Amino acid sequence: MKKCDLCGATISDDLDRCPECGSKVEPLPMAKPANNRGDIYAILAASLTATQVLAPAGLVFAIAAIGKTKRHQALAIVSIVFSAFLTLLWIVATVYYVIGITSVRYY
Ligand SMILES: [Zn+2]
Repeated sequence: MKKCDLCGATISDDLDRCPECGSKVEPLPMAKPANNRGDIYAILAASLTATQVLAPAGLVFAIAAIGKTKRHQALAIVSIVFSAFLTLLWIVATVYYVIGITSVRYY
């Protein structure tokens, strides 16, 4: 049940006008889906970043989540920072590994 803003009469949920005064009544806010795509991306990004090995994939999803997510904006930002840092480490480690292999070959 909802209440009329104008006269305070109780109105049945299926009515959009007050039966007492005839004023228009706002419909009850519809239950929104728990997650939109951005929220899912943000959670996925955080999960992938937490695995550390899959941080580069986390970075991709974190960037996709930014601006789309409403409830997990902070999570998306934190995911970007951490996954970018881990991706950088990952690249540096790969470069050092490749240099290591090549230098072994040259010796
Ligand atoms: Zn009314």
